[in-house]
Amino acid sequence: MKNPSINSDDPVGQIRDAILQRQTFLLTSHARPDGDAVGCQLAMAYALKALGKSVRCVDKDPAPPPLMAFPGVESIHVADAADDPADAVIVMECSDLTRTGVAGFEKYFIINIDHHPGNSLYGAINWFDGSACACGEMVFDVIDALKVPLTPEIATHIYVAIATDTGGFHFGNITARTFEICRRCADAGANPAAIARILYDSNTLGRLRLTGGVLHNLELEAGGRLALANMSLQLLKDTGSTHEDSDGLINLALTVKQIEAVAFFKEIEPGVYRISMRSKGDVDVNRVARTFGGGGHKNAAGCSMAGAYADVRARLVAELKGALNA
Ligand code: 5GP
Ligand code: MN
Repeated sequence: MKNPSINSDDPVGQIRDAILQRQTFLLTSHARPDGDAVGCQLAMAYALKALGKSVRCVDKDPAPPPLMAFPGVESIHVADAADDPADAVIVMECSDLTRTGVAGFEKYFIINIDHHPGNSLYGAINWFDGSACACGEMVFDVIDALKVPLTPEIATHIYVAIATDTGGFHFGNITARTFEICRRCADAGANPAAIARILYDSNTLGRLRLTGGVLHNLELEAGGRLALANMSLQLLKDTGSTHEDSDGLINLALTVKQIEAVAFFKEIEPGVYRISMRSKGDVDVNRVARTFGGGGHKNAAGCSMAGAYADVRARLVAELKGALNA
């Protein structure tokens, strides 16, 4: 007989049942994981372990150094391919399976939990909620449905996911529900001040010098509404910094009142750029990113481009001006 609790109108119930019926899990998220990616995986891992399940987190890249201070992050297995036996893979924070950067997940039973617009619904079970401010909000709901009590570890990771994906409770999609979840996390042992210190006061000297260099060279377009930042390989060398040192730096440009959008060109090899974009309000940088084969959210998106810097810059600026005037 069909289990009446399994239906696509109740994705959380469907995910709960699929988890309860299985024993061995792989958890993953996107390459170059951020706080939401790491927080979702670890919160889910601790919850599944509390249910007696076997769990292994497998990511393409290591977590950023500051996040290593949070419980269990060092246990994430870094690999290019997945081949461990498992009853299911829970993929969080990935609009498409290729975003994991790990080969071989397609052969498993996939549970897809994500909040990125354009999610390609690649799972056997798919739960997409574009209104969630962080995928961590969705993972919180799954853990609630599983009736696993919040531990300090689970609460800390959910809080980290939300705090980082909202840029420190700054961006769109923050609702009363966001604070209700954070309230429950704080109640269960997440320490907001201690977490903020780990997230925001973990600068390296290289990062501080890199910040100075990038801001010094900031360029303005569109009458000052658009900022362009550039991080060349030479600047990394001159400041003694690494690519990871640039994480989050882009957001500084948006602290200027007049600046409504910013594009950050990060040279990853000569003539190849990873581009991060951020915007305020209705300026849609996701559409700009998609024009160049990337994606993301309305106010935070990215893409890759190759060519001479002047040319790449001109092509992107033309699209960004269109977005500012839409
Ligand atoms: P970031 O600038 O922090 O790398 O990325 C901002 C947002 O855009 C994130 O939500 C990220 O998942 C998304 N994003 C960045 N680059 C790409 C890309 O090349 N393709 C897609 N689909 N999304 C991207
Ligand atoms: Mn996210």
